[in-house]
Amino acid sequence: MALDITSIRFGAHPDKQRAVIDLSAPTKFRAFVLQSPDRIVVDLDAFNWRPSTILRGEGVAINDVRYGSLGSGKGRLVFETAGSVVIQSAFFLPKGEDLPDRLVIDFKIVSGDVPAHIEHQLMGDMTSSAPQNGFDAAAETLSGVRLPPRKNVTTAQASHTTKGIAIAPPAEKPLIIIDAGHGGQDPGARGANGAYEKTIVLAVAHELRKQLEDSGKYKVKMTRETDVFIPLRGRVNFARKHNGDLFISLHADSIQNSQVTGASVYTLSDKASDKETQKLADRENKSDLIAGVDLSTQEDDVADILIDLAARDTMNQSKFLANTVVSSLQNNGIRTLSTAHRSAGFAVLKAMDIPSILVEMGYLTNRSEVERLSSPQHRRKIAATLKSSIDTYFQKTSK
Ligand SMILES: [Zn+2]
Repeated sequence: MALDITSIRFGAHPDKQRAVIDLSAPTKFRAFVLQSPDRIVVDLDAFNWRPSTILRGEGVAINDVRYGSLGSGKGRLVFETAGSVVIQSAFFLPKGEDLPDRLVIDFKIVSGDVPAHIEHQLMGDMTSSAPQNGFDAAAETLSGVRLPPRKNVTTAQASHTTKGIAIAPPAEKPLIIIDAGHGGQDPGARGANGAYEKTIVLAVAHELRKQLEDSGKYKVKMTRETDVFIPLRGRVNFARKHNGDLFISLHADSIQNSQVTGASVYTLSDKASDKETQKLADRENKSDLIAGVDLSTQEDDVADILIDLAARDTMNQSKFLANTVVSSLQNNGIRTLSTAHRSAGFAVLKAMDIPSILVEMGYLTNRSEVERLSSPQHRRKIAATLKSSIDTYFQKTSK
């Protein structure tokens, strides 16, 4: 029997707030909370979105309602909350009298940050913790339902819920966040000539900043300007804190086969586009481990982030930028891999609201490629290519 969501009601009570989701049939479900932004996530059987009403009572701390498909017969509701939230209870009520089957979620807004692991509450009896596949399909079917704005809603950019590439032109100069990968105790890949990835990417980052600033069209911030270590999450937070318009992470890869050369560009996905990209993401995500950062407190639900990204159109913008960079590299005679735009769960690409790409500029394990990448001339060429891609991106997306 098809599951419909027929209405959602939010009410505030002295001791709690309550969400009631009216359904056309029973469902298994689980509810949990996530942060950045604070939200309640409800996974249930795949559903049709047919609410006749979304009612928000006085004093309810819900900013936004989103929904989407997770594939594999599952669907997801996301309630964005105004502040950290804990779920007090979540239960299913079977239909009776005049009331339909429904899910009830009681929650409370708490001040301050609540560690993600303490606040997780699993209810119902859905077993899988994250969608394993079908994510592209999920991205296509995601939609946002925007409630009337509340005071102090900080996610001003979150209103891009339409499909396609459509972002408002930034009011002032766009802010480009350049992220030179690795640094400090994490050298990244080691080149055939002994050069370190961290050094090469920092040089390109400085060159790119110079070209962007010289154009007079952009503001630029770098996650690191010197040889220092920054955790992956710190890079993402940096981009969000400064409210960047684009995030570009610069890397150079290594591979066993020293014949392999070519640049490639990556966007975030919960399922790697291919085995090599999965291994690459594993290598890049190891940066924190190498530097001894404790990862145990990091929430790592790429799927949930992708739902948010898709709802905000950031995903499409990231893919558009990635494809623009690939063709720009190819048009400028810079060798790329044959499939040059790929995707996987890169930790550094998880800045919600900010279109983000990771560029692998080539393979340091190939002697002539590492020598090219070590030359200022070639670095200028790569930076110029990235700059022209950024120009194209803002021309296309601002129309
Ligand atoms: Zn790297």
